[in-house]
Amino acid sequence: MTEIVTSTKPADMLALDSVRPLIDTFQRRITYLRLSVTDRCDLRCTYCMPEQMKFLPRREVLSLEELHNLARGFIDRGITKLRITGGEPLVRRDIVDLFTALGKQLGNGLDELTLTTNATQLSSHADGLAQAGVQRVNISLDTLDRARFAELTRRDALPQVLEGIAAAKEAGLRVKLNAVALKGINEGELPDLIAWAHGQGHDVTLIEVMPLGEVEEDRIDHYLPLTDVRSALERNWTLTDVDATTGGPARYVDVAQTGGRLGFITPLTNNFCAGCNRLRVTATGQLFPCLGGGERVDLRAALRSDDPAANLQAALDEAMAIKPEKHDFSIDARGAEPALARHMSMTGG
Ligand code: SAM
Ligand code: SF4
Repeated sequence: MTEIVTSTKPADMLALDSVRPLIDTFQRRITYLRLSVTDRCDLRCTYCMPEQMKFLPRREVLSLEELHNLARGFIDRGITKLRITGGEPLVRRDIVDLFTALGKQLGNGLDELTLTTNATQLSSHADGLAQAGVQRVNISLDTLDRARFAELTRRDALPQVLEGIAAAKEAGLRVKLNAVALKGINEGELPDLIAWAHGQGHDVTLIEVMPLGEVEEDRIDHYLPLTDVRSALERNWTLTDVDATTGGPARYVDVAQTGGRLGFITPLTNNFCAGCNRLRVTATGQLFPCLGGGERVDLRAALRSDDPAANLQAALDEAMAIKPEKHDFSIDARGAEPALARHMSMTGG
């Protein structure tokens, strides 16, 4: 079990400067951080990574204490929502210790601590996460068909995932399911997946596949615009637009027939950058101000420097200066290089 020192120098020194919020050059106030804690994963979703994915050497990845210090530094600059992601965050050893340490900041600058997971290991961690102060969890699930799941993720793990989802509910965590809509793969199953999730009391968000990182297949073959999905659903269901957003890119509807809520994340058909309030940091401490852009700031260098506090401050200011107005990936160029070389598992989904 790792001991994370909950009060450490960089974060405490940053606290002295806590009055300076993170505001970019387009006057967007940044309050949401997605922090990747590992690039490793126990699944190999075909749209996310190749079977023979090369993972980073461990020494390049931030220690749990470094991740904690980093997060504290962000909280001191006005980050109120923190999502832990990956890779698969729950494959990282002692990860619940990080949640426990960060949970101490809830009500103390931090409003929400959450995670995105594939749920394969959630049954053993759900209680610990709930005790740490996590209230909601996003779980990725693209299919309820065991054979299709095994094909799509290259691992026969649907039973564990379903156990993990049940354990989360049991532990009192609110569950939101995320499904990537894939033409010719789960397209026909989406109404059943949505109805099942709503029946369990879980919201669902559908996501368009994005051209991030090299994988074996050509993603355009499976690209399914959510405008098409919505039209198909509307043949049988009544969808009513909901004004409420979570401050993120999803747009929501209520489904009259299931009584549940359905979100659509449409990075390709509908640019959502204008209200962007978020930053992403990889497990090696690289800050990407935009999921779809090449801009980057090295926070690990700052953290491992002689003066971590001052250098982290400067790095965060630099990130604000270079955060682009909008992303520019497109999936139109069939056969072209992926719009971006980074896998989602690296930048954190
Ligand atoms: N392993 C965890 C999981 O799957 O929930 C967290 C990390 S994963 C990279 C986060 C999300 O990114 C998942 O919902 C996954 O489906 C999505 N994702 C991965 N690659 C994607 C891509 N190329 N386009 C769209 N979504 C992608
Ligand atoms: Fe792993 Fe998540 Fe990528 Fe699937 S989407 S391979 S679960 S990181």
